Amino acid sequence: MTDLTKVVLQDSEIPEAWYNIQPDLPSPAPPVLHPGTHQPIGPDDLAPLFPMALIMQEVSQDRYIDVPGPVLDVYRMWRPTPLYRARRLEKALDTPAHIYFKYEGGSPVGSHKPTTAVPQAYYNAQEGTRRLTTETGAGQWGSALAFASAQFGLDCEVWQVAISFDQKPYRRTLMEIFGATVHSSPSNLTEAGRKILAMDPNSTGSLGIAISEAVEAAAGDPTTKYSLGSVLNHVLMHQTVIGQEALKQMELFGETPDLLVGCTGGGSNFAGLSFPFIKEKLAGKIDPTIRCVEPTASPSLTKGVYRYDFGDTLGMTPLVKMHTLGHDFIPDPIHAGGLRYHGMAPLVSHLKELGVVEAEAIGQVECFEGAVRFTRAEGIIPAPEPTHAIASAIREAERCRESGESKVILVALCGHGHFDMGAYRAFLDGNLEDFEYPEEKVREAMEKIPAVA
Ligand SMILES: *Cc1c(COP(=O)(O)O)cnc(C)c1O
Repeated sequence: MTDLTKVVLQDSEIPEAWYNIQPDLPSPAPPVLHPGTHQPIGPDDLAPLFPMALIMQEVSQDRYIDVPGPVLDVYRMWRPTPLYRARRLEKALDTPAHIYFKYEGGSPVGSHKPTTAVPQAYYNAQEGTRRLTTETGAGQWGSALAFASAQFGLDCEVWQVAISFDQKPYRRTLMEIFGATVHSSPSNLTEAGRKILAMDPNSTGSLGIAISEAVEAAAGDPTTKYSLGSVLNHVLMHQTVIGQEALKQMELFGETPDLLVGCTGGGSNFAGLSFPFIKEKLAGKIDPTIRCVEPTASPSLTKGVYRYDFGDTLGMTPLVKMHTLGHDFIPDPIHAGGLRYHGMAPLVSHLKELGVVEAEAIGQVECFEGAVRFTRAEGIIPAPEPTHAIASAIREAERCRESGESKVILVALCGHGHFDMGAYRAFLDGNLEDFEYPEEKVREAMEKIPAVA
């Protein structure tokens, strides 16, 4: 162990390959199915939406896939990212635990998302795509893809969930600065959007609806492709540079984590940090607890059901086996902490079923309380999403204070919260309440999910 507070790697130490966990899984994750035939899909089924390079990565059994040079060149703008020891937080908590955090907030848009947006834009540009479509909630993914599209000369069109479009105008401005076109979703521009608006003209939207719109816009135009910021295997794989860097940095600190903790919306930042550690765990070299943390308002891993469901609300995407709250899930408006997607990455869901990772749900008040303690000690304002990971780490550090155990905790701090002052304002004014997503709503939603034999 050292007395360092942070470990910063050199440009030359950015991992030159992504780690693909698929060949190392104790059993393979269930296949993705065609929404009509319920048969496993092939590469050609996905070709209207994604470039072939990404489709092949999605099903690859290669343990490592090289990061292309032009992608590394863009990564160098902010990678490698620093790993910190939260000494001041440890002191404030009076805990014998050692708390570390891997910080992704220094990227051009302030989160881990450009780490997949950049390769996605690159492969699309390579294969002749002219325009990318996508969805975004608060705008983190949309701004990452807008940034990446600008790097490779692509047009970028974003459907932003209506409630965020109205309530969080600054990310939209950021997307437009990067050159993207932004629509409020549901919109009149797509069949899917018109269908939802016909049912509910005041719909506040959801990620599932925005995905339907962005997919439809891409499917109808051969020079346009669709891009997803989480959930898919290739997205999780791109993020593994985070964990590969962190493995090396923890080694330089001279410590081995007993607990890794990350927030899970679709699973990408969690996978990015944890998969390289899971590789070591599955090989029997280390044995940390690996924990997903999600909101009680959107509890796909802790209350959702593990079964085949659509990735979007209108049922246009393939069927994937995942923990799901049902594809027509609409988050409660009181919830300020992000992580609002109805499903979970199939790889993360599979690892949960295998018992390799565990999951916990925490209410938003405790999350923001933890975030404020963290900020006062460490000076970084976390995005609402990683406040879940921080709250879980604080719970653990407090248990260590009681037991005297000195655990090593590694937290995925996947973004800063500079665009989320509205949520912090609500917390400081005492206007945040916890919301427990009701069990019976999950049961009701399961009745609308296709039965897959
Ligand atoms: C998008 C986002 C998330 C949620 O997505 P995951 O795929 O679960 O990582 C979490 N944190 C931040 C900062 C994000 O931008």
